[in-house]
Amino acid sequence: MAGEPQADCLFCKIVSGDVPATIVRETETTVAFRDINPQAPCHVLVIPRAHYPDGAALATAAPEVAADVLREAGEVAAQEKVDGHGYRVVFNTGAGAGQTVFHAHAHLLAGRGLTWPPG
Ligand code: AMP
Ligand code: ZN
Repeated sequence: MAGEPQADCLFCKIVSGDVPATIVRETETTVAFRDINPQAPCHVLVIPRAHYPDGAALATAAPEVAADVLREAGEVAAQEKVDGHGYRVVFNTGAGAGQTVFHAHAHLLAGRGLTWPPG
C-alpha cells in the first residue's frame, strides 16, 4: 500500500532504526540525516517517514508531508547556519537524473559555491 514501509528500502530502514544514520532533526512525519557521501560541507537528506518512490509521488499522495519535507529542509538549513548564505534543495527523480534510493528524499546542499546550472 502507498506509504507503507518497504522491506528492501534503505531509507525505510533508517526510519525504523535498523540502519544507523547521523540524524540531525526529526519530526512526526520526517527524518533528516547526514549524507554518507557528502557532496558539500553541509549535505543533509530530508525524508518522509512514509515510503514513496520520489518527490512527485509523495506530493501526489501526501501533499502535507511533502510540505513538511520542504519546511524541514529550511529548518535544517537554519540549524546548520547555512540559511543566511543560501542553500540548494534537490530531488533527483529517476535513475537518469542520479536517483539511487527510491524513497523520496530532498538533498540539502550548502557551505560551498553552488554553480548553476547543476551538472
Ligand atoms: P540519490 O542518488 O538522489 O538517490 O540520493 C541518495 C543519497 O543517499 C546519496 O547521496 C547517497 O550518498 C546517500 N546514502 C546512501 N546510503 C546512505 C546511508 N546509509 N546513510 C546516509 N546517506 C546514504
Ligand atoms: Zn522506503
